[in-house]
Amino acid sequence: MLAHEDSFLYALSSNNAWASYKAHQNPEFFHKLASGQAPEILWLGCSDSRCPETTILGLQPGDVFVHRNIANIVSPTDINTSAVIDYAVGHLKVKHIVLCGHTNCGGAMAALSDKRVGGVLDTWLLPLKTVRLAHLEELNAIEDLKARAARIAELNVEAGIKVLMCNPVVQEAIKERGMQVHGCIFDLASGKIRDLGIGTGGKVVLGAHHDEVVRGKHAQLVFTNGNAAMAVKS
Ligand SMILES: [Zn+2]
Repeated sequence: MLAHEDSFLYALSSNNAWASYKAHQNPEFFHKLASGQAPEILWLGCSDSRCPETTILGLQPGDVFVHRNIANIVSPTDINTSAVIDYAVGHLKVKHIVLCGHTNCGGAMAALSDKRVGGVLDTWLLPLKTVRLAHLEELNAIEDLKARAARIAELNVEAGIKVLMCNPVVQEAIKERGMQVHGCIFDLASGKIRDLGIGTGGKVVLGAHHDEVVRGKHAQLVFTNGNAAMAVKS
């Protein structure tokens, strides 16, 4: 079977090319990666294939510690989420927790429907159904289904941030070392992440005439008003 005929074969061959490219670009890259991790960001996001955190943040392996589940639900009794938070906050000492929902979320759409999804999924989505019930009037007033799903995704992030802010490990890290907690939405249609201004701090907004910088090991791309210029690092 040829690589282009099978998605897993294609993925493996793509990985091979990527590893060779990274090693060529920076001979120390994998040596450094293998020596340990010190990520500064814990990302809690949706499992959706369109929301790969490291890719959409323009970051690299080693930059983000991750937990993703369907519809980025932060439930206090979920031992999986809790273990990731404990390790990232208590051991890796991350500086930021980012809880990020997204537009066009299938989980959000399912929670807005009265139909059963089946299997364990209805149970998993219960917290999101609770969010729906608590904001039923506001959500029903939004006619466009995609806009309604985008709104419940925001409300879901708000609910998750409340759970995070009540987590004793998170509370200690905020108090003792100023860790920050952010609630965001990733807009699939534009590729941009919007800070909802909830959590520990105010809203983080990029200035109107800011330079958008993508830093690589050997070069960085600077976008000024949408135009890219590459600066090669020495
Ligand atoms: Zn989703």
